[in-house]
Amino acid sequence: MKTAIYPGTFDPITLGHVDVVQRGLKLFDNIIIAVADSPKKSPMFDVQQRLDMVNATFVGESRIQALSFDGLLVNLAQTHQACAILRGLRAASDFEYEFQLAAMNRKLDADIESVFVMAREEYTFVSSSFIREISSMGGDVNALVPEAVRQHLPQGKG
Ligand code: ADP
Repeated sequence: MKTAIYPGTFDPITLGHVDVVQRGLKLFDNIIIAVADSPKKSPMFDVQQRLDMVNATFVGESRIQALSFDGLLVNLAQTHQACAILRGLRAASDFEYEFQLAAMNRKLDADIESVFVMAREEYTFVSSSFIREISSMGGDVNALVPEAVRQHLPQGKG
């Protein structure tokens, strides 16, 4: 059984994230979505709310498990015997950060591979920060987030 960990802030989860997970399921038997506490990012939703939205999005999917974490990612991967860290790439702008992260994780544990997938073209411009910003100004982002997120966005409550 091959397990991958998909870490992120998921503030909130978007259809870009969902697409990454679906691609990961073609490569791995199980995916653990690890919702990082990320207090330094001052998230809009607290970690429990973010985890609840992830769980609601993948309800009934037996190969997907979600949890929250605030420690070192490689320790989490080791605990769950994950062989890979799954990440998504959008534009070249993601590369620099992802490259550093992958290199650092490899330094910490050379046995865990970082695997990158690209989401569908229509989601390449989708980011949680855009979702937060646009919805806070009353913009309609319903087509870009899962159902479980819509009701929690400012414009969704309208
Ligand atoms: P982090 O704070 O770890 O960057 P995010 O929730 O912003 O957390 O992103 C988690 C991962 O998902 C990152 O690898 C990011 O590049 C990827 N990702 C986010 N949105 C998309 C998207 N629309 N298409 C492809 N990958 C994405």
